[in-house]
Amino acid sequence: MDNVASPTQAVMELERAYLLQNYGRYPLVLKRGRGCWLTDLEGKRYLDLISGIGVNSLGYAHPRILRVMKEQAGQLIHSSNLYYHEYQGPLAKKLCETSGLQRTFFCNSGTEAIEGAIKMAHSHGRRIDPEKTEIVALENSFHGRTIGALSITGQPKYRKDFEPLMPGVKFVNMCDEAGLEAAITDKTAAVFLETIQGEGGIYPMPAELLRKARALTEQHNALLVFDEIQCGIGRPGTHFAYQLHEPAILPDIVTMAKPIACGLPLGAILCNEKAAASIAPGMHGTTFGGGALACRVALEFYEILEELLPQMRRVGAYFLDGLRVLQQKHSIVKDVRGFGLMIGVEIDFPCRHFVKQGMELGLLFNVTHDNVVRMLPPYIITEKEVDRALKGLSRIFKHGKPQE
Ligand SMILES: *Cc1c(COP(=O)(O)O)cnc(C)c1O
Repeated sequence: MDNVASPTQAVMELERAYLLQNYGRYPLVLKRGRGCWLTDLEGKRYLDLISGIGVNSLGYAHPRILRVMKEQAGQLIHSSNLYYHEYQGPLAKKLCETSGLQRTFFCNSGTEAIEGAIKMAHSHGRRIDPEKTEIVALENSFHGRTIGALSITGQPKYRKDFEPLMPGVKFVNMCDEAGLEAAITDKTAAVFLETIQGEGGIYPMPAELLRKARALTEQHNALLVFDEIQCGIGRPGTHFAYQLHEPAILPDIVTMAKPIACGLPLGAILCNEKAAASIAPGMHGTTFGGGALACRVALEFYEILEELLPQMRRVGAYFLDGLRVLQQKHSIVKDVRGFGLMIGVEIDFPCRHFVKQGMELGLLFNVTHDNVVRMLPPYIITEKEVDRALKGLSRIFKHGKPQE
């Protein structure tokens, strides 16, 4: 054996020497992608069922996205928010028309959208009463890594090293309607929740909870914020996850980010006129947010999404049916939860080792909340690719627990 590092090891070693050691990455160096498939540095191919955590919505090298990206990169990438460019307006119009809300603010990431929404909440509350700045959020939620977003994230493991966080936040269990009722008072500025919890294990909020939150926030003049950073923008087979309910439950604010610009950083806050009134000129802003390149790509994506939604619903249902068949066959599968192309398979023991087994079989997914196999495939995934995924997952589920 010689000790010449493989190209993969060389990449890993350089990172180990120079990067902040905050990530526990898998030993995989990605080189390029096409459609739903990725190729690593060693030439091995993988079916991508996680799409950069729900970001690469149209997979890789989508011809229409590439075309506008190339054209726009040659014209104008960024111009700051000192000036206008041609793409924020049309994109905001599409988002408003499909959401039922009226105004948009563009930023760069999910956590930034949450920060903006927290600022809107505080400003809205303070206009009524200087002490009306409390926020109600849910246990098991995930809203991002900045201090404000962490403050409303109901999972101690993300918070504990960074306390003290923003005060005035109450957490409620998603099954506890009475708790929600007790938590929301005249001091509440806003209620934040993920319409479908993603990081927390693919848990949809019960319709009754959403309706109760809507009624209570109206009663106490608080804003209702749905975090659809992971579950929105087509992922559930509708434009927004709150539209899965009949009649739809409309919040005052929606935050979004991940899939909206096919891999370019872009986030957004969508809101109604009531929430928009909390922000006057000069009160909020960003240098990078809503750049011409990101917005143009998002606009093209949104047009493609219209055509894709029926296919996404069909393939999502097909995937779910296939997983339910696997659940019948493998007793380790405790639950299968899916909404369009947002899918979680709950295993009855911690199953992080499944990720490595998946990689060996050429499948990329991740495990969240210790025991939920999470799949957020690109929106373009086909039945044939789903068959491939099911075949691999069946082998993994058959293996079951790791041998100690
Ligand atoms: C990913 C995520 C965030 C944070 O987004 P970043 O872009 O990583 O800052 C917030 N909320 C939800 C529901 C998410 O899934």
